[in-house]
Amino acid sequence: MSSSVALRLPSIDGLLRHPACLPLAERYGREALLSGLRQLLDELRLSVLQGQLSAIEISPEVLAGRVGERLTQQQRSNVRRVFNLTGTVLHTNLGRALLPEEAIEAVQMAARYPLNLEFDLASGKRGDRDDLIEGLIRELTGAEAVTVVNNNAAAVLLTLNSLGARKEGIISRGELIEIGGAFRIPDIMARAGVRLHEVGTTNRTHARDYEAAISPRSGLIMRVHASNYSIEGFTARVPTAELAELAHRHGLPLLEDLGSGSLLDLTRWGLPAEPTVRQALLEGADIVTFSGDKLLGGPQAGLIVGRKDLIAKIKKNPLKRALRVDKLTLAALEAVLGLYRDPDRLVERLPSLRLLTRPQAEILAQAERLLPALLQVIGEPWNVSAVKALGMIGSGSQPVARLPSAALCLRPQVSKRLRGRFLLNLEAALRALPIPVLGRIDDDALWLDLRQLDDEAAWLAQLPQLQVES
Ligand SMILES: *Cc1c(COP(=O)(O)O)cnc(C)c1O
Repeated sequence: MSSSVALRLPSIDGLLRHPACLPLAERYGREALLSGLRQLLDELRLSVLQGQLSAIEISPEVLAGRVGERLTQQQRSNVRRVFNLTGTVLHTNLGRALLPEEAIEAVQMAARYPLNLEFDLASGKRGDRDDLIEGLIRELTGAEAVTVVNNNAAAVLLTLNSLGARKEGIISRGELIEIGGAFRIPDIMARAGVRLHEVGTTNRTHARDYEAAISPRSGLIMRVHASNYSIEGFTARVPTAELAELAHRHGLPLLEDLGSGSLLDLTRWGLPAEPTVRQALLEGADIVTFSGDKLLGGPQAGLIVGRKDLIAKIKKNPLKRALRVDKLTLAALEAVLGLYRDPDRLVERLPSLRLLTRPQAEILAQAERLLPALLQVIGEPWNVSAVKALGMIGSGSQPVARLPSAALCLRPQVSKRLRGRFLLNLEAALRALPIPVLGRIDDDALWLDLRQLDDEAAWLAQLPQLQVES
C-alpha cells in the first residue's frame, strides 16, 4: 500500500466549515486558522512523502485539535508571569520590585486617559514632567532639587556627563565596580566623556589619596556603593562627610551613586542597614543617584537628587531628553513615593518591603503546608522536605547579608553521576508549567524558596501538570 494513496486529508474549505474548526475561527480569526491549517496539511503531506508518517486517515477533529494547540502557542504572549522562588527578592532578571495596588491603579489611569504630563494645570502653560514628583521626593529626601530618568545607570551617565565632561572624575579603586555585566563604572565614565582618575588601592583609600589627585583638570569626586560585593578585613574608606568637605574645599562636587538608595532606615524592620538618601545628602554629597525599582520598591527609574544649581545643569543636558521617563513610570513612582509618607503602614502596603520582612517561621509553616501536595506529584527518586533556607535581597543591596527564609528542598536519591541531570530535568519541568516556577539549584538539590509565594492557590492548581523526565 503506497502512502500517497492511503493518506486522505480533508479539503481546506471543508475543514473551515467543519464544526470542530468553527470555535477556532471564532477565537483566533479566520485568517490565522486558514494559515494554520495550510501549514499543518503541508507538513503532513511532506512527512508522508518522506515516509516518516505511516499512511492513515486523519479526521477533521484531530486536525482541529492540532491546529488549536498551535494557535494557542502562537497567541501566548512572550511577556509571562512566573513564580520567583529563587530566594532573591529584587531579582533583576525577573523584574525586580512588584508594585503596590496604588501604583497599579495609577498606571492604569495614565494608560487610559490623557494627563497633565507636561502641562501646568494652575497656569495653563507648558510644564515639566519632573514637577509631578519633585515635591514628594524633596519632602522624602530633604533634597533641594530633583530629576528623574529611565534607570539608575542613566542617572549616573547623565550626571557624570553634565558635571564632568572633558574633566577628570576622581574615584577610589575600591569602587570601580561592575553591575550585572553591562554596567561598569570605568566604561560609563568613558562614555560620559569623563576621564577616570583612580586613587587609593582596592581595599584602602585615604583622604590624602583624593587630595593628591586634585588638580585644575579635576571636575568631580565620585563615590559608588559597592552594591554586589564587600571588602572586608584590612580596609579604609573616607567617610562621606570628610570627603564632601575635601571636595568643597577645592570647589568640586561630590557625586554619590547609592545604587539601591533606601529612603528609610531599614533596620526598623529588622533588615540590614543601607545608607539612606537623606543621610548621604546631610553628610554633604552634592548629587545622589539611586534606582526606583530596588529597595524603593517602585517602577524602573533613576532618581537624581541634590543641589539646585547642579540639577539645573543636569536638566539642561540634551541627553536628559533621550533618557527621560515615560508617563506610566511617573504615575507609578508618584503612587509608591506617596506610601512613604506613612512609614507605619508601609510594610503592609509596599510588596517588596512586605516580602523582605516576612518572618522565617511563617515561610516555614507555608513550606510544611505545601509539602504534601508536592509529594503527591513527585515520586521516586525524589526526597522532598520543608526546610529553613537563606535568601537574598538582590539587586546589589547587601550582597553578603542573607535573609532567613524557608524552602521546599527536592533532592534526587540517585548516584552522584546522575544527580546533575535529574536536577536539570526537574528544573526544566518546573519552567514548562503554565506559570513557570523558578527555583535554584544548590548543593545537589533544587530549592523552592517560598518567601515570595503569595498566590498559593495558583501554584497548587498547576502542580498536577508537572511532568519530570528522568
Ligand atoms: C544597581 C546599580 C546601578 C544600576 O541601576 P539600574 O537601576 O539597574 O540602572 C548603578 N549603580 C549602583 C551602585 C547600583 O547598585
